[in-house]
Amino acid sequence: MIRSPLFWKLVLAFAALNLSAAAAIVWITLTWQEDRTYAQLSQRLSDAAVVLERDVSSRLLSAPDATLQEHLRQLGQATGLRFTVIRADGLVLADSSRESLQEVESMENHRQRPEVVGALARGEAFERRESPTVGYARRIDQGGKPVGIVLVAVPRAMVERDLSVLRQLVWTATGVIALLMVAVLYVVVGRIVRPVMTLNSAAQAIARGDYRQRVFVPGRDELGALAKSFNQMSEELGSQLTQLRESAQRQSTVLGGMVEGVIAVDHRERVQFANTAAGKLFGFMPPKVEGRPLLEVVRNHALHQAVADAVVTRRPKRLEVAWEGADKLNLSVQVTPLPGKPCPGAVVVMHDTTELRRLEKIRQEFIANVSHELKTPLSSIKAYAETLLNGAMNDGENARKFVSRIEEQADRLHALIQDMLSLARIESAQQSFKIGPVTVGDVVQSCVDDYRAQAQSKQITIVTDPPETAVLVKADEEGLRVILNNLIDNAVKYTPDGGRVTVRWRSDGELVSIGVADTGIGVGREDQPRVFERFYRVDKARSRELGGTGLGLSIVKHLAQALGGSVDVQSELGKGSIFSVHLPLA
Ligand code: ADP
Repeated sequence: MIRSPLFWKLVLAFAALNLSAAAAIVWITLTWQEDRTYAQLSQRLSDAAVVLERDVSSRLLSAPDATLQEHLRQLGQATGLRFTVIRADGLVLADSSRESLQEVESMENHRQRPEVVGALARGEAFERRESPTVGYARRIDQGGKPVGIVLVAVPRAMVERDLSVLRQLVWTATGVIALLMVAVLYVVVGRIVRPVMTLNSAAQAIARGDYRQRVFVPGRDELGALAKSFNQMSEELGSQLTQLRESAQRQSTVLGGMVEGVIAVDHRERVQFANTAAGKLFGFMPPKVEGRPLLEVVRNHALHQAVADAVVTRRPKRLEVAWEGADKLNLSVQVTPLPGKPCPGAVVVMHDTTELRRLEKIRQEFIANVSHELKTPLSSIKAYAETLLNGAMNDGENARKFVSRIEEQADRLHALIQDMLSLARIESAQQSFKIGPVTVGDVVQSCVDDYRAQAQSKQITIVTDPPETAVLVKADEEGLRVILNNLIDNAVKYTPDGGRVTVRWRSDGELVSIGVADTGIGVGREDQPRVFERFYRVDKARSRELGGTGLGLSIVKHLAQALGGSVDVQSELGKGSIFSVHLPLA
C-alpha cells in the first residue's frame, strides 16, 4: 500500500484539507480571543482612568507637584498599572513609574504620543500598537475646554503572557486532534484502496491471460459488489475464451484437413491465414507467409486482380488459374469477399483440377480412339456387304471370300469389344478376383500349350525356363492366365518366322517375376513407356493385320496392378523384347 499513488493522493489531499481547516479554526479562535482580551483590558484601563480623573481634575492647570506624584506612585504599586497625568499642552504632571518629582520633570513632552493625540481629538483613545506598553488615554475637560489627559498603561508583556499560554493550548489541542484525524484517514483510505489494488492486480493477471483469477473483498458495499461482478466477468471471459480456442482449433483442423487450398487475406491483400493444402499447391510454408502481400506469396496477377475485384465489388469471383510452379497445375479458384462494409478482406479457395483435366483429356482421346477402332472394321463390313449386294453375291467364288472377310471383321469387332469390356471391368474394379496361391509353372505350361500350334505355323520355337523349385504367386489364376496369354500372343505375333519365345519365371524372395522373351522386332526406346497405353501401337497397320486391338498390354498392366504387381519391358529394336510381370510371392 505504501507504493500506491492513489493511497497517497487520497491521504495527502484529505490531510491537507484537514490541516487547513484546523489552522483556519485556530486562527479565527485566537484572533477573537485576542480581541476579547484587549477589549476587556481597555474597559479595565478606562475604569481606572475614570477613578483617577476625579482625583486629579483640580490640579491640572498647575505645575507638577509632589503630593500628586506620590499619590500616583502608590496607586501604581497597588494596582500594577502605570498612571500618567498630562497637562493639555503635553507636560507630564505625575507618573506612577517615577520615584521622584525631579524624574517627572525631566520626562519629555507627551503632546505627540499617539494616545494623547487620540484622546485630545476624540475624548479617549486605546492604543495597542507595537510598543512595550498598552495604554488608554482619557481627556479631561473643564468649562468645555480640554485641560489634561489621564493615561493608564499596562506592560504589553503581561497581556502577551496570557495570550501566549492560550495560543499554546489551542495549537496543541488542534495538533493532537489533527494527528488523530490523519491516523483515522490512513486506516479508512487504506480500507478503500486495498480492494482497488487487489482488483487492479487481478485485472492485470487477466490481461496476461490468467482467467482463473478471483478476488475476495469482504463487505456488501460497492467495492464488494464490484469484486463479485469482477469474478463473474473473469469466469465468463475464461469460458468464452475456452470456447473460442476450441472453435479456432476445430476451424484450423477442418481447414488443415481440406484438400482445397484456402488463403484468407485482409482488405490490403495481406495474407491472414493459409492452410497446408495452399502451401503445397504454391510451394510455401503457411505460417511464414502470414502478414505478407498475396502477390508476393502467389505470383499470379489474375488471382491478385480477382481478389481486388471481389473486395471492391463485394461479389464472389470464380476463375481458372494455370499455375506454373514445380508442376504445372490447373486450379479452379473461388474468391469470396468477407462480410462487412467496407469489405474487410476475402477468402480464396483453390481446387486442383489438374487430374480432372488430365482424365477429361484421356476420356476424350479414348472416345476418339474407340470410334476410330470401330469405324475401320465397320467400314470394311459395309463395303463388302455393298459389293455383295451390287452383284458379287452371284459370283460364287468372290461371294464366299467377301462373306469370310465380313466374318473376319466381325471377329475383330468382337475381340475389340471383349477387350474393352474386360479393361473397363478391371479399371472400375468390378472384376472380382479369387486371390490365392497359384503354381506359376502350371499356368505357364497350359498357356504355352495353347499357343504351340500358332507358333509352329510360324516355325517359332516356344520354350519354358522354370526355376529349380516350383514357385507359387499370390494371384487370381484366371487373371494370371489372361496376362500370360496376352504376352505370349504378342511375342508370337511380333516375332518373325523361325524365331524363339522363352517364358522364364524366378522368385527373389518377395516377388515372382515372369518374363516372356522373344527374338522379334523389338520396341524402340521412345515407344517403350507408351506401349502400355490404350490403343497405342508402334505400327498400326501391322498390329491390325495381325488382328491386334491395341488393348492387350493395357489389360496386362491393369491386371498386374489389380493383383498388387507391376509390368515392364526391356527391348532392343530388331533384336527382341522381354515383357515381365512382377507379382507377390504366395
Ligand atoms: P496389339 O493388339 O496391337 O498387339 P498390344 O497392347 O498388345 O496391342 O501391344 C501394343 C503395341 O506394342 C503393339 O501394337 C506393338 O507395336 C507393341 N508390341 C507388343 N508386344 C510386342 C512384342 N513382343 N514385340 C514387339 N512389339 C510389341
